[in-house]
Amino acid sequence: MRNHIWSGKCPRCHKGDIFKYPLSQLTRFAAMNKECPVCGAPFVPEPGFYYGAMFISYTFTVAIMVAVWLVLYVFVNPSDWVYGLALVLGAALFSPISFRLSRVLWLYWFGGHKHNS
Ligand SMILES: [Zn+2]
Repeated sequence: MRNHIWSGKCPRCHKGDIFKYPLSQLTRFAAMNKECPVCGAPFVPEPGFYYGAMFISYTFTVAIMVAVWLVLYVFVNPSDWVYGLALVLGAALFSPISFRLSRVLWLYWFGGHKHNS
């Protein structure tokens, strides 16, 4: 099941893609399918369904910034502006991933889909 979440697969059939494009197409990372192209499970059960996912995304962002800070602190110990730059860069680079992962998790947790397998 973890792999289905990482690859953004449908929570019901685990085959259809939740997002329209692969993550490599960075400019279109937010485009979602409205329903599963394979089994028709709704990916947007109600308007505003994904507001709560922002909190997960926010938590991810904080976690990645703490991780970046910790790595720098332990291994590099750079000057303050390097910390700032690395934290902003780290959060920015990670944002498409945290955006997607938070929405997939939200859909798995609260989308009301039963896992068939
Ligand atoms: Zn499906």
